[in-house]
Amino acid sequence: MKSSKKFIKLALPGEKLAVIEEFEGGEGTYIHNGSIRSITIGIPSYNLRSRKVEVKSKQRARIPNSGDTIIGQVESIQNNIINVRIHYLNNEINDGGFTGLLIIKTIKAGKDKQNLPMPCKLGDLIRARVVNNNNGIIYLSIDRAEDGVIFATCSVCGGKMVKIGNNIKCVECGIIERRKLAIDFSKFSL
Ligand SMILES: [Zn+2]
Repeated sequence: MKSSKKFIKLALPGEKLAVIEEFEGGEGTYIHNGSIRSITIGIPSYNLRSRKVEVKSKQRARIPNSGDTIIGQVESIQNNIINVRIHYLNNEINDGGFTGLLIIKTIKAGKDKQNLPMPCKLGDLIRARVVNNNNGIIYLSIDRAEDGVIFATCSVCGGKMVKIGNNIKCVECGIIERRKLAIDFSKFSL
C-alpha cells in the first residue's frame, strides 16, 4: 500500500492537517482559511473511511485562555503581527508549544513603512495577557504596565540591553532602541 506523504505524524499547534475539501475536522482541530489545523501538539489520526481527521493531545499542558498571563519569546514578526512562542503560563513552565499573536493595531501615520513603531523585536522575551483564545488562535495584549518586553538583546550585535529612560541601550555597541517595556524590564525573575 502506498503511504501518503501528506499525512503528518506529529502535529504542532496551528499545523495544517488537511484541506476541507478532503477531510472533516474532528476533535483537536479547527478550520482556518479552508484548512483543517491542529489546536495542540498531538498525533493526528486520519480516518479514510469517514474522511475525518482528529488530533489526540500528546501532552496535558494547560491551554492559554482569556485572562492568563504568559511569558514568551518573539519568534517572528510579519507586518503588524508578532508571533510569540509561549514558555510560561501564569508563572508556570508551559511546554505545550503554544504560540500567541500580538496584533499591532495602532499604526501611526508615517511615510516610511519601516518606521512603524514595533513594541518588540525578534528574540525579545515579553510578558503579555491573553485576551482571547479563539479556536486555538491565542490573542495577546501588552497594554498593562506590567506587560511588555522583560528581556532583550541588541538587534545589531546581540549585546545586553539596559534601560535608559523609556528606551534601552546596548552595553556593547551603544545603539539605543525603543520597545514597549514592562515595568520590571531586566529585573524580573522566573
Ligand atoms: Zn549592540
